[in-house]
Amino acid sequence: MIIRLKKEVNEQKANELGKELQAFVLRENGSFVLVTPNKLKDLDSKYGSFVSGSVVFDDDIQLASKKYLNEVRTVQLTEHISIGGTTGNTAVIAGPCSVESEEQIEAAAQLCVKLGIGILRAGAYKPRTSPYTFQGMGLEGLELLAKMRTKYGLKIITEIRDSTHVNEIIEYADILQIGAKAMYDHGILKSCGKSNKPVLLKRGFGTTLQEFVQSAEFILSGGNPNVMLCERGIRTFETKTRFTLDLCGVAYLKQFTNLPVILDPSHAIGYAYGVADLSRACIAMGVDGLLVETHPNPAVAKSDASQQLNFDEFTALYQTLSPVAKAIGRKIV
Ligand code: PEP
Ligand code: MN
Repeated sequence: MIIRLKKEVNEQKANELGKELQAFVLRENGSFVLVTPNKLKDLDSKYGSFVSGSVVFDDDIQLASKKYLNEVRTVQLTEHISIGGTTGNTAVIAGPCSVESEEQIEAAAQLCVKLGIGILRAGAYKPRTSPYTFQGMGLEGLELLAKMRTKYGLKIITEIRDSTHVNEIIEYADILQIGAKAMYDHGILKSCGKSNKPVLLKRGFGTTLQEFVQSAEFILSGGNPNVMLCERGIRTFETKTRFTLDLCGVAYLKQFTNLPVILDPSHAIGYAYGVADLSRACIAMGVDGLLVETHPNPAVAKSDASQQLNFDEFTALYQTLSPVAKAIGRKIV
């Protein structure tokens, strides 16, 4: 149950009530909100004088539910750039899989600037399937990303691979990415819940929608309302493509959750040949963001080489997105 307390209830009283009801105590729009276990369906009348409203849930999707907030939340990146809300904007996030060198990340930053894209992505700590492959540049990579932010005025998104460097990423990034393999790590989720930086939470490739949104609840219930959900492909019986982009799942997330939804076709298909068509399909779904991997020379990329678009391919794709967005009343930003 989510219980909204009256404006005049102070912090001490909110905490007291939270303790009694075993609830998370959050502050939203100037009032306190209590989030209790969902098995609580009725509130004792003794609480009546403190409560301005309450919502009951069938499952543990509470703060992320449209039953609680009927609109898509707005994640404010800067005074001028926001993701989600009711603007009808679809934000494009672009960049290589990994930061590999200053030259490489600077080329990607310059491409973003040239096209008017405001958010640069690249991993510095890479969650690789094999220990014998490139694991990322680590702190040096974060420093290069920070340099690109200063030099080009871009927002930076980079991933948290494990709990050893959560605080480093929180310090350096504008958007914290939690990857498909890290999304079950409660240490990471809870640390991100304590930060107020925007979080892009990717769906694990074997994760149900219920489990996915419950991971988001860990961040939301920790006090960070700035969570975005990212569908990046799930594992099915199909082996011709790397994963299967679950657009049905996207329809579910749009219908039942209040979190902005970002789509990542690059990791879903795993091959560059399909990324442009899939990207247009993603835009046509009416989502809040699109994440695409692009690299100055994908053939020599140190991670995800087969799926990254070269800059010409990416530019050609980018130019086709606006008409698709326009056809469904949205705008690429
Ligand atoms: C990535 O964004 O480069 C990445 C590793 O993504 P995922 O966690 O979805 O595999
Ligand atoms: Mn990648």
